[in-house]
Amino acid sequence: MLKCPICRNPNTKLKYTINKYTYYDCGICQTLFLHPQPTVKQLAEYYKQEFIYEAGSQYEKRIRDQAKRTLKNLKEMNLTGKSLLDIGSGLGYFLDEAQKTGLDATGIEPSKKFAALSRKLYRTNVINADLELFFKNNRHKKYDFITMINVIEHFNNPFKQIAIVSKLLKKDGILYLETPNYNSWLYMIEKEKYTFLTPPDHTYIFSSVSFSFLIKNDSSLKTRDTLTYSYPEHLMGILKNLLKNKKNQILLNDSMQANKENNIAISKSKTIKYMLFDKALSMISYKILNYFNYGSFLELYIRKI
Ligand SMILES: [Zn+2]
Repeated sequence: MLKCPICRNPNTKLKYTINKYTYYDCGICQTLFLHPQPTVKQLAEYYKQEFIYEAGSQYEKRIRDQAKRTLKNLKEMNLTGKSLLDIGSGLGYFLDEAQKTGLDATGIEPSKKFAALSRKLYRTNVINADLELFFKNNRHKKYDFITMINVIEHFNNPFKQIAIVSKLLKKDGILYLETPNYNSWLYMIEKEKYTFLTPPDHTYIFSSVSFSFLIKNDSSLKTRDTLTYSYPEHLMGILKNLLKNKKNQILLNDSMQANKENNIAISKSKTIKYMLFDKALSMISYKILNYFNYGSFLELYIRKI
């Protein structure tokens, strides 16, 4: 039996095998975790050769829109906050938006290339380091806001990272965490084809319950708000998946060739109809995914008391 690294539950289940990597599921804290964890060498190789940063330029507009929403919330939660640290700052879109609101923003980015690009394009203050190295050299520093956007799911030991972040937060400071959501429609529908099961870089898929365990040992951290959000295409992905399953069912149930052809024609016309609705539908109704926090990304605002 393999113990859950988050809540210590001894009854975890082997759930998925993807490219020789195995994910286990913990039903108590609702977490998926990679086991065995990739070695430092494996990860280094992976990031060098295969990893495509999600914060790519094709997503610039949506990253900036989401950044504006997050920054507005952060400022409302700490009205006098001035300094911000963004861990894993990528190309610097979030940092750039933070600077525009008048915050004194610093980024940490392990990729030398991205750190350099971010400095050059947006005059951001980015330190080329990972969190542990940064902390080693900046133990005295404290920030009003710390953001980790699609970062925590990459670490081998999230407890350690949260402990460091807690030390870097000022009293009344806010930590913002954004990460793929275990309790999402997207995961429920896609299952083993889940968009964010990308070993070895995603070592964990968390839920809001996982975080209650992750911050339990640190009495100075209190969750202030839990939200979720989704990208429009996630709704379309879910609908198409449902449609595809329906189509397969029709094909399986029919043994007669004539009926089969007929059904293919029907499902084709249905597909075209859905595609026509793609744009209108995704613009308006993707927000329904977020009701009851079943959106694709989990967003946590955690206060240091
Ligand atoms: Zn667990």
